[in-house]
Amino acid sequence: MQTARRTHGFTESVIREMTRVADRCGAINLAQGFPDFPAPEVLKEAAVRAIRSDVNQYAVTWGSPRLREAVAAGYGRWYDLEVDPDRHVTITCGATEAMVAVMLALVDPGDEVIILEPFYENYGPDAILSGAKPIFVPVQPGEGIDLDRVAQAFSPATRAIVLNTPNNPTGHVLTRAELEAIAELCRRHDAWAITDEIYEHILYEGQHLPIAGLPGMRERTVTVSGASKTFSVTGWRVGTIVAPEAAGDAIRKVHDFLTVGAPAPLQEAVAEAMETLGDAYYQDLASGYRSRRDLLMSSLLEAGFRCSPPAGAYYVLADFSGLSGEDDTAFALRLAKQAGVAPVPGSSFFADPSDGSHLVRFAFCKSEDLLREAGRRLMATFNA
Ligand code: GLN
Repeated sequence: MQTARRTHGFTESVIREMTRVADRCGAINLAQGFPDFPAPEVLKEAAVRAIRSDVNQYAVTWGSPRLREAVAAGYGRWYDLEVDPDRHVTITCGATEAMVAVMLALVDPGDEVIILEPFYENYGPDAILSGAKPIFVPVQPGEGIDLDRVAQAFSPATRAIVLNTPNNPTGHVLTRAELEAIAELCRRHDAWAITDEIYEHILYEGQHLPIAGLPGMRERTVTVSGASKTFSVTGWRVGTIVAPEAAGDAIRKVHDFLTVGAPAPLQEAVAEAMETLGDAYYQDLASGYRSRRDLLMSSLLEAGFRCSPPAGAYYVLADFSGLSGEDDTAFALRLAKQAGVAPVPGSSFFADPSDGSHLVRFAFCKSEDLLREAGRRLMATFNA
């Protein structure tokens, strides 16, 4: 029998697996982070219009000119960053493709890539697929980054550090002081900052600061984001990259061979949304998520979880050790089957599974009614 040519040393995505578990159990899926509420009409109408007017063939491989223009304008408007749509912007099939394309383009086999932990589960496999060695630096949930530990992780072999702000799964938003310290390390060690900012508009406290805006960082930063979270269209797969020109050229080549391009009509629709939606849209997005966050937080605390409110993104990482002595996988599966609420086992966000064995992650990108029902089920399970 044929077997896979290379196993690569990583396992399947636990986040995606938990969606299948939730579907099998008929549980409320608070595992994989995708909204259950509709995308804005402007996107849906624009996508339909683009398809009907036959924008149905490949776009320019590195992105439709209109969307690259809209992305560049957004960086100028939100962060005062000057971005050239022709030289700096690449559109990909989601931030997921963006991250792996960037690593394949910029990292050589044998290089080290620093990843702050807990981390979104794709980053480890992304580093491994590019032949790099991931170096994990733990960050205590609820605490700031231990900058001395980050500094110690840098070595002559370091090619890049992966940042994710606001963070999945902790909700931490990197502060200016943290970003400045990391930027200084990148400059000193001639390393790339690869920054996943897909939750940039889902913020409850502080301010979103792209590290690309710090002195000397534009030429060593690749900024990844996309439409999935900002416009509630995770299934569209439209991601964005802003990179210095030479890096962008290498990234575009990898992207071309990986996927040729992102869906053409959906690129037009995202461009239209970026052109027409004003500040009120982004404020409403964040305030809607704030209400959902507060709703889920109060249910989790009442049910007996230990957790603190995230400053950004749409997840709560919750400590269940006061409720059960099970490990995270057993607990998550039991919750899905018995309580009818599926979270993600915490171990999937750590290199050493035992570091997350007392944690589960709940997503709150769901309608308030569904979150209320999930809360009722959790409280009934643990307060009985
Ligand atoms: N980023 C989301 C999560 O962590 C969705 C992940 C995915 O499956 N692409 O749940």
